[in-house]
Amino acid sequence: MARIFGRSMRRVKCLLLCVLLTILVCLYLAFTPLQDTARDEARNVHSSVHDKAATYGEELPDKGDNPTWGRHKLAVIIPFRDRLEELLEFAPLLHEFLAKKKVRHRIFVINQIDNFRFNRASLINVGFLESANDTDYIAMHDVDLVPLNFDLDYGYPKEGPFHVAAPELHPLYHYPTFVGGILLLTRDQFLKVDGMSNKYWGWGREDDEFFVRMKQAKLTVYRPEGITTGKKTFHHIHDRRKRSRDNKRYFNQKEITRRRDRETGVNTVQYKVQSLKKLTIDGAPLTIMNIMLSCDLTVTPWCLKPEDHAKYLDSKGKVLPDN
Ligand code: UDP
Ligand code: MN
Repeated sequence: MARIFGRSMRRVKCLLLCVLLTILVCLYLAFTPLQDTARDEARNVHSSVHDKAATYGEELPDKGDNPTWGRHKLAVIIPFRDRLEELLEFAPLLHEFLAKKKVRHRIFVINQIDNFRFNRASLINVGFLESANDTDYIAMHDVDLVPLNFDLDYGYPKEGPFHVAAPELHPLYHYPTFVGGILLLTRDQFLKVDGMSNKYWGWGREDDEFFVRMKQAKLTVYRPEGITTGKKTFHHIHDRRKRSRDNKRYFNQKEITRRRDRETGVNTVQYKVQSLKKLTIDGAPLTIMNIMLSCDLTVTPWCLKPEDHAKYLDSKGKVLPDN
């Protein structure tokens, strides 16, 4: 009898021990954090998807990296100064347009903050250099030209520079050698012509000089085909009374800027990035770069209006430091 009692006591003890062990194992599993690697992996996947969306202005890919977006990445380079109203209208529309077309992109607003006259071409050179990291082709893009026709191509221009704002489609400029407004180039094509001239301060002609660069480098410029919307293909947000063009020519500017410039280009542009800001306008992520261009007054004195020379020069004719 005592033996039977002793045996069943041992069984009960054994059972209790098993239950206790099971509880301990469960408690251990419940309170032990996930292995670091698994947790980090989850965090990385999450943030890389979001970083990508923020970086390239894409919609979130549905399953990992969506291959239908293609492997190329476009840097939209907007030469900019004092065009906030246009930017507020333009940025969300262009972002939506490119996202719908599944063009990976990032929009760079290259904001000129020095005291010199506006220099569209130098700002494009700066945008090219500053966007080198994660993009393989560029769009030089005016802030006031919104594409309205969804058939317009913004893809990688493998065959040669692609002039989106063609003369027969641009609302204002119809001459056959016009390449302004919106022009796409691969990074190699842009480098082949040493980018744009830095001598064009004030409005106009820098795009015509760029046409000559491309022609001499034997780059064929392509244009949209089969677009039937004519001059209504773009919306030009440009009130000429409010946004008058700085088209005066000073010193020997007229003579110099009629010639093809063989001295300056993307390799000689002098500038400082004063600051970089990320901004989202109605869901369109932008990288704003505040840029101080430099000007050598002995080479291009017209970077300042004559009446401003005294204002920004010291007694020895040097540009004051805050320029
Ligand atoms: N731009 C600017 N601020 C200026 C002048 C020009 O931001 O003071 C930029 C802007 O992107 C603009 C482009 O340069 O769209 C071309 O200038 P504009 O529109 O005056 O030339 P258009 O092609 O209309 O003759
Ligand atoms: Mn304009």
